[in-house]
Amino acid sequence: SGKWARAMAILREFEEKCGTPIGKLRQVADAMTVEMHAGLASEGGSKLKMLISYVDNLPTGNEKGLFYALDLGGTNFRVLRVQLGGTDNRVVKQEFEEVSIPPHLMTGSSEALFDFIAQALAKFVAEEGEGFHPAPGRQRELGFTFSFPVRQTSISSGTLIKWTKGFNIEDTVGEDVVGELTKAMEKLKLDMRVTALVNDTIGTLAGGRYHDNDVIAAVILGTGTNAAYVERAHAIPKWHGLLPKSGEMVINMEWGNFRSSHLSLTEYDQALDVESLNPGEQIFEKLISGMYLGEIVRRVLFKMAEEAALFGETVPPKLKIPFILRTPHMSAMHHDTSSDLKVVGSKLKDILEISNTSLKTRKIIVELCDIVATRGARLSAAGILGILKKLGRDTVRDGEKQKSVVALDGGLYEHYTKFRTTMEDTLKELLGDGVAGNVFIEHSNDGSGIGAALLAASHSQYL
Ligand code: ADP
Ligand code: MG
Repeated sequence: SGKWARAMAILREFEEKCGTPIGKLRQVADAMTVEMHAGLASEGGSKLKMLISYVDNLPTGNEKGLFYALDLGGTNFRVLRVQLGGTDNRVVKQEFEEVSIPPHLMTGSSEALFDFIAQALAKFVAEEGEGFHPAPGRQRELGFTFSFPVRQTSISSGTLIKWTKGFNIEDTVGEDVVGELTKAMEKLKLDMRVTALVNDTIGTLAGGRYHDNDVIAAVILGTGTNAAYVERAHAIPKWHGLLPKSGEMVINMEWGNFRSSHLSLTEYDQALDVESLNPGEQIFEKLISGMYLGEIVRRVLFKMAEEAALFGETVPPKLKIPFILRTPHMSAMHHDTSSDLKVVGSKLKDILEISNTSLKTRKIIVELCDIVATRGARLSAAGILGILKKLGRDTVRDGEKQKSVVALDGGLYEHYTKFRTTMEDTLKELLGDGVAGNVFIEHSNDGSGIGAALLAASHSQYL
């Protein structure tokens, strides 16, 4: 009937616009490399901020003592403590707690947000027990993982450039986020010092390096997406400070803000962007990350409901609500292996209040999820190729086998199996057989928390 033809036409047109043939991915990777150079050359030289992290040494394994970390970067934040035992004993003991952030605090005042965070931290510190040994007469030290774009002013200070991922608190922008946290801690008489301010990519890189010396980059695929890598200090023209002894500097790419003429946006992507909290920004992130994938699916379904009456004569009211269809729901539908696609049926009923869907309709939805996830996963792989190219690790040089490990973390990577395997397969496809054998992706489980604690240790005031 006309309804199916119209729905399929919408699906096929969308599929075509989302296409990521290998040639296009290579163009994206090349554009990424070009923008990396531009961002390193001068401040504001590129959409890629290529922020200098002040981390010029990554953990070695010698770190010792009790350290705390606080990880703020999405809908939850985590507090963590770790007792480090040095080269032989490594991580002796660790504990963490996860706290969800009440949505009204994400768009309220800076003070309210940091007070809430400091309170949770103070409560966690008060519960420190058996097996954790604060050094007598010393302040407790904290690594603060703050996963929003920050202009660092030192290893332990930096001003917020802008919020992303649904946060929007005007009075924090331009402020030192360590100052904000410290003020809130002081109000509670919590005697603790922030010795490292990093972002989740840098924490993940540090955590990854602690376990594996060949880790050279880290990528986060979670609510948002970002990457960090180890650059040669002399390859950073915009760095006018002293060259670090190590000769290296970790760069926070803020790759979520990458955009390129090779990234073609569909009408749905464009509408999502225009209606977002940060129009025109974080375009790569809006194609890839967990905050947005489900929402793209919803927008295409809405169009099918409106123009092809996919769900009957009227558009189901719930389908009009932005962000109602979350990426974990999408993932559950995408992975549905039952013959009647009953997971798809139940998600549609529970979330969108659409009942009695036919198998044919459910199949369209699975295919739609596949198109959106595949595009995001393949673009992520192209981004990683861009980093490897920048480092000259995308080819085998003079038969030399140099191993490169990329640490990956984030809920999307961890839980969305089809996304993860497509991303990994695409990277292999891009690298080709010869090089693919030297490049490894490692899941750095909660690297960002542990990594921040490790960096707090290596930047301790008592060293
Ligand atoms: P953050 O990026 O906020 O620090 P995480 O790394 O934990 O948080 O990632 C959370 C994100 O991961 C969620 O916003 C969601 O998009 C995605 N996610 C979580 N669980 C799943 C799942 N089962 N399937 C697909 N995506 C998921
Ligand atoms: Mg995170």
